[in-house]
Amino acid sequence: APVIVWLRRDLRLADQAAFHSAAESGAPVIPVYVLDDDTPKHRAMGGASRWWLHHSLASLDADLRKLGSRLLLRRGASGDVLAELAAETGAREVHGLHHYEPWWRNAERAVAKALDLHLHHGNYLAPPGSVLTGGGTPYKIFTPFWRALSETLPPPDPLPALGKLSAPESWPKSEDLADWNLLPTKPDWAGGFLSEWNPGEAGAAERLEDFTDKVSRYADQRNLPSVEGTSRLSPHLHFGEISPATIWHAVASHKGSTSTFLGEIGWRDYATNVVQQFPDYGAKSYKAEFDNFTWRSGPEAEADLKAWQQGRTGYPIVDAGMRQLWATGWMHNRVRMIAASFLIKHLLIDWKRGEEWFWDTLVDADYAQNSVNWQWSAGSGVDANMFVRIMAPLTQSPKFDAAGYIRKWVPELAKLRDDVIHDPTVRPSGYPDRIVDHAFARNRALDAYRMGR
Ligand code: FAD
Repeated sequence: APVIVWLRRDLRLADQAAFHSAAESGAPVIPVYVLDDDTPKHRAMGGASRWWLHHSLASLDADLRKLGSRLLLRRGASGDVLAELAAETGAREVHGLHHYEPWWRNAERAVAKALDLHLHHGNYLAPPGSVLTGGGTPYKIFTPFWRALSETLPPPDPLPALGKLSAPESWPKSEDLADWNLLPTKPDWAGGFLSEWNPGEAGAAERLEDFTDKVSRYADQRNLPSVEGTSRLSPHLHFGEISPATIWHAVASHKGSTSTFLGEIGWRDYATNVVQQFPDYGAKSYKAEFDNFTWRSGPEAEADLKAWQQGRTGYPIVDAGMRQLWATGWMHNRVRMIAASFLIKHLLIDWKRGEEWFWDTLVDADYAQNSVNWQWSAGSGVDANMFVRIMAPLTQSPKFDAAGYIRKWVPELAKLRDDVIHDPTVRPSGYPDRIVDHAFARNRALDAYRMGR
């Protein structure tokens, strides 16, 4: 009987244990991707992620065809879809990788009820849930977590590339990718994405290769939004087009210091460990008082939220970031921190509204990384920045030398000199006035915090 490979955020052939185990069985292999918006509580992917998914699936199908295989596409609740596919083909065994978004628990339970489900590791440096304190409990704080995880490194060597996958005698029906309408039509807001990104396994490998030459400069450059100093591997990692073990082995053997960069890959593991312990992390503040906080609401707050989303706050660094996000589906990490702090503290809007916007607009939108970082920014999380640490955008911007970045993303300000672009006293026409005064906003946030406790 054929064996099914159930693909989710693991859209690669190299170092992909589900494909390897299926291939080793010697049976014909049926790779299938299920677009699951139907399992109860499943959080549907946002718009930018769907754009990425379209291209990544097309790329995986092309790669599979080179091995004499192909990718089947089906839509529906994963449990039902896989049970149907098994009934059509006589398959009993399903291989996949572990995933930790809470909604997969329902889907996996449904699949395991109908079929023989084998889940493998390989999307994290260490299996989430496996790094424990001396007392056998999971870590809540990053630094000790990372210290303990580092002791398990290096991660296993990546599995060798597959040369061939046996095909079934006849291929079951597949839906047509174009019918899934994953790409935006009117308006085509993703027009700029393709010049920025190359979704798929080959694109991920290329990014890694470019980056390994720059990794020793990472620690100095990662906080400078005007420089391309980070790897930009995040959407590739999110969709599993490359494994963290592959990245680790490529980078760790490199000359120069790589520990800062590898620590960031560690943050990715950490975030997943947090949502594994606290599945509602994307929907509820870990510190409950933040869900009863006096967040602003009503028409004025909604107008401010819109100005933030559209990059019209009158704070150049915030606006540059929000426009980069809209145009490319990605934002520099330092600017994500500034923009998040601005929404939460300057505008006093619930972090969940920001999390939702990022979920819809980031190509790397990830339940764990997004919620852990938003709760960190809000001060509401397990391992969080203090609420009272309010980032001052007008100070952060020159500190991290963001003039070139602002010039690129806020053309209204492009003609301003470096020393005034961060905080223009004379605003060029067309550039909005500040929606809130910094000192006023700071005091309002601190008062709200004092009263909310
Ligand atoms: P690099 O600096 O090259 O880092 C390498 C990899 O490490 C990244 O690709 C990513 O997988 C991981 N990483 C880096 N920083 C972090 C971090 N702070 N937390 C967890 N993992 C990290 N990242 C996402 O992948 N998805 C999200 O939805 C997401 N939402 C965020 C929301 C906010 C408010 C903030 C402040 C950060 C968010 N991040 C998110 C983390 C970080 O901004 C991105 O991972 C990073 O900017 C991606 O660019 P890069 O691949 O060049 O990163």
